[in-house]
Amino acid sequence: MDCLATHLVMGIDLGTSNSAVSLWLDGKSVLIPNLQGNVLTPSVVGLDDEGQIIVGQAAHERLQSHPNITKASFKRYMGTDATITLGKLVFRAEEVSALLLRQLKDDVEAWLGYAVKDAIITVPAYFNDVQRRAVKTAGQLAGLNVVRLLNEPTAASLAFGLLENKEHKYLTFDLGGGTFDVSIIDMFEGVIEVCASSGDVRLGGDDFREVIYQWMLKKYPELHKDQFLIRPELLKLAEHLKLALSQAPECYVSMHWNESDFEWKMTEQELATCCQPLLARLQQPILQALHDSRFSLNDLDDILLVGGATRMPLVRQTVARLFGRFPRHDLNPDEAVALGAGVQAGMVMADCALDDIVLTDVMPFSLGVDTTKQHGERFEFGYYLPIIERNNFLPISKMQELSTIVDNQEHILLKVYQGEARLVKDNVFLGELKIDIPPRPAGEVTIEVRFTYTVDGLLEVECHYQGSPKVYRLLIEKVPGQMSETQISASLAKIAGLKQHPRDMPENRELLARCSQLYEFLLGDDRLWVDKITTEFEIALNSQDLRLIATFRQQVVQFLKRYERDLH
Ligand code: ADP
Ligand code: MG
Repeated sequence: MDCLATHLVMGIDLGTSNSAVSLWLDGKSVLIPNLQGNVLTPSVVGLDDEGQIIVGQAAHERLQSHPNITKASFKRYMGTDATITLGKLVFRAEEVSALLLRQLKDDVEAWLGYAVKDAIITVPAYFNDVQRRAVKTAGQLAGLNVVRLLNEPTAASLAFGLLENKEHKYLTFDLGGGTFDVSIIDMFEGVIEVCASSGDVRLGGDDFREVIYQWMLKKYPELHKDQFLIRPELLKLAEHLKLALSQAPECYVSMHWNESDFEWKMTEQELATCCQPLLARLQQPILQALHDSRFSLNDLDDILLVGGATRMPLVRQTVARLFGRFPRHDLNPDEAVALGAGVQAGMVMADCALDDIVLTDVMPFSLGVDTTKQHGERFEFGYYLPIIERNNFLPISKMQELSTIVDNQEHILLKVYQGEARLVKDNVFLGELKIDIPPRPAGEVTIEVRFTYTVDGLLEVECHYQGSPKVYRLLIEKVPGQMSETQISASLAKIAGLKQHPRDMPENRELLARCSQLYEFLLGDDRLWVDKITTEFEIALNSQDLRLIATFRQQVVQFLKRYERDLH
């Protein structure tokens, strides 16, 4: 079969702590390094001393020292109205995510030497409809065309699954910085089927750091009164303890504060005690996914570990104990999701290497409507009627008939919710639709409601009353956490206004500063050489051609290294 050459699609893991991008190149998924040469870009956005936007490692380094103008973990706020402030600038989570996505896009384009617009972005399986829309909006704001959203555990299993190419049933256990996802996957004859997804959107490596922080405060009650001042510093030390204890049985950290020295020695045992409540929370989502998939533990061939926090021996031990066997972790856990997104990108590009692979996905939550129950004369409001139940395969479309409950009702207000609770007040409200009906006795008017859930995880609701050709479609006027078209246009302008000139990027500014220092220091011909290379670098920067800039930057770095070595 012939393959058509096609344009590239990026696979993006937009993580709570770290993000990564891959491309499908020469029949395999390849992680693309950023300008610093790393495949993981910290999901951190901030302002530098001149008020310019900085993203990734440069921002991460200022997270503790400049907490008011540097923000991390904003993915937790996707799909909410929460504001994220960087000094005087106020953003929504979509906008900050867009700044990060724009940086990832720029880095890939610099690496490739040409523009790429299409992207697949991964999302936690547990993201609801509003959060998924927010991710798409963030992509749009970053100038990306989001061709598909992909559940993170599905992406991870694609990365593992293709390496094996065997018939397999897996469970993916993804514990990242802020979210925990469990998925059960059945792979057979080139079909990857996600049988069930579950998780906890409030559990990740950040929470393990937080319990270590609390333990540190408990050791020195005198620090309590200053805890807000020292929190950034203590969190940094807590993270250090956490990472070090993944490698060694004990670790020391110390801090100087208010003319005193504080020292902490944490052992594996102490870490285990602190983390116990968090480790206990890992079990429930696993049980739920197993229950929904109707698989037993023995049916699973493998447990795949994904997410940086699964590097903790305590997490691995807990997984081994829960499953009665050792999990697999033969891929780098923080890279698996991005690698899998690259595989999916290959599928979208219709690459021949993937012709035989079919991907099916499930919807991780139930969707339904608000209904009223009648007990004799009494009406009871607010009951949830699920129309599409969780863990159905996608895309899915289901129809349900509903009847009027009072005489001469002139319209029906259809309220759409997402969740599993019996009462709608405990679920997430998604939107509402008002349907005009002819006034008739109760029960005589029946409406047909159709819910269609797409592979992108987006919901369309259609509704009409029997006998009428008029179809009402869900127009969500105000969903908490969703941006309107007007807001999106305003954000696009705002983000475009924040565009950085390559000359202003911290790494380029630093190089220019080093060049001028060297110029001042040297004499004669050497000085002319510095002038020449600085001018060439400035021309490259002004061209705004990222590939050219990257090439020149390398030359400048080598040049400076040679001279600076001679100086010392
Ligand atoms: P996300 O998908 O949420 O962006 P990652 O998969 O990159 O997250 O994982 C980030 C988390 O992994 C952080 O909380 C980090 O502290 C933790 N982590 C990374 N390496 C280690 C390690 N060696 N030991 C313990 N935790 C680690
Ligand atoms: Mg992740």
